[in-house]
Amino acid sequence: MGCPVLIIGDSGSGKSTSMRNFGADELSLINVNSKPLPFRGRFTNTLKSDNYDSIEKYLKTQPCKSVVIDDCQYLLANEYMRRSKEIGFQKFNDIATNFWKLIRSIESLPDDVIVYFLGHTDTDDNGVIRFKTVGKLLNEKITIEGMFTTVLHATVIDGIYTFATQSKNDTAKSPMGLFSEYQIPNDLKMVDESIRVYYGFKPEHHCTDCDTIIMPESGATVEQIVDGTTAAYGRKLCMTCARKAQADAKSTTVSN
Ligand SMILES: [Zn+2]
Repeated sequence: MGCPVLIIGDSGSGKSTSMRNFGADELSLINVNSKPLPFRGRFTNTLKSDNYDSIEKYLKTQPCKSVVIDDCQYLLANEYMRRSKEIGFQKFNDIATNFWKLIRSIESLPDDVIVYFLGHTDTDDNGVIRFKTVGKLLNEKITIEGMFTTVLHATVIDGIYTFATQSKNDTAKSPMGLFSEYQIPNDLKMVDESIRVYYGFKPEHHCTDCDTIIMPESGATVEQIVDGTTAAYGRKLCMTCARKAQADAKSTTVSN
C-alpha cells in the first residue's frame, strides 16, 4: 500500500521549495498547474496534467519511490471552473468523488511509494487553517485531511521556513514519534527519509552510544550520518551523540 502525505501552505510558504534536496532521478513531479519550479534544477520524471486518468496512469508507471502532486487543489478548482455553468449540487459530488478516488488509488501502489499532495490553505469558520477546496459545498461531502495520516503545514515566520508537524490552529498532524519537533525545516527530502525509517521502508540504524534509531537531519540522509560519524568517530552515532562527541573532541584538544 502506497502512502499519501498532505502538505498544506499559502502560496510562497515554501511547499514547492521543499523539494530542492531531492536528486533529479529521486522524485517524480506531477505539476497540476504547470508552474515553474522555485529553484534551479529539474526533475527527470515529470507530468503536467490536471486530468485524473492521466495522473493515475502516470502514478502506476513512473519509476520513483517519491512522487509530488504539486498544486493539487487545482484538480478541484479546474474541474469546478470547467463545470461552472452546471446548476445543482451534482458537480460537487463528482468533484469530491474524483479527488477521493485519486487519494484512494495510492493504496494500490507498492508499499514504499510515498505520494505528497501539495496544496493551498483556507481558513474555515472556526478559524482553523485547512486544505483549500472549492468551498463549503465540497467540504460537506469530504474531509480531505481525514484521508491522510500525516498532514504538514508549511509556514514562513520571520523569514524562517518550516513545516508544522502538530498544531491546534491548523490541521497539521503526524503519527507519534515520526518527528521529534513540532516545527521542522521545510525539507521534503528529510521528511521522506524520516517516513521511510519510521515505517521500515529502509533499514534501521541504531546509535552506538545511546541506542536510539538514527533519524535524518535537514541536508543529511541516515546513510550520510552513519558514514560520516563512522569516519569521524569510529562508530555510528545519532546527531545528538555526534554533536556531543564533537564537543568532547574539541575540549580534549583545548585541554591538551
Ligand atoms: Zn545517540
